[in-house]
Amino acid sequence: MLDELLHLMYPRVCAGCHTLLSPGEKDICAHCTVSFDAFPNAEAADCAVKEILRRNHPETCAPRYAWSVYRFHKKDSLQRVVHAMKYQGVRRLGAFFGSCLSEMIAGSGIEENFSCIVPVPLHRLKFVERTYNQSEVIARSLAAALEKDVRTDLVIRRKYTRSQAGLSQKERQSNVSGAFMSYPDIVSGHILLVDDILTTGSTVSAVIQALEEAGAKSVSVAVAALAA
Ligand SMILES: [Zn+2]
Repeated sequence: MLDELLHLMYPRVCAGCHTLLSPGEKDICAHCTVSFDAFPNAEAADCAVKEILRRNHPETCAPRYAWSVYRFHKKDSLQRVVHAMKYQGVRRLGAFFGSCLSEMIAGSGIEENFSCIVPVPLHRLKFVERTYNQSEVIARSLAAALEKDVRTDLVIRRKYTRSQAGLSQKERQSNVSGAFMSYPDIVSGHILLVDDILTTGSTVSAVIQALEEAGAKSVSVAVAALAA
């Protein structure tokens, strides 16, 4: 009842197409949800993520497993949803991606005992600017479903990097080179690393390297979407 009243007073619109949401819909309308380019299964997503990392970062160890829910395409409604989550303060959209990822991971039949879940960190100045880390919002939703702990203290972003958007693969790589560091005395086990979007994989690759140098036995990767 209260929800319906609030909806009348403050109509909620879809983050993907900006049309009015039906009362049962939450943040994204049914039309947009089915229009997103979803991976058919966990194996297809695993191959696609590893292929991007292998092609662009042959020097980095491949993740043990990799998951991505979607591919996004320029100017599609998924790109608008991701944009709203990252830059327009709609942090709860992260819970949508976290829940999709938890279903994919649980349904992939891989019984893995992650020691913890680690979101790709933002530099503290960027955190102040944006007020939240969208990868952490995804990671927290995923962790609640998988009953794991989120650790935001294992990796720090010590270099303030400019946005990766619009940079070439080489520029992305040098932009994040040396940007992350981790602590050898507290990193161990199989870590699940979470990011929002994977484009050339430079950021994820740099964090995998930092975690492995610090003692992680292995690292798996979960992202909301791959940029096609
Ligand atoms: Zn929509």
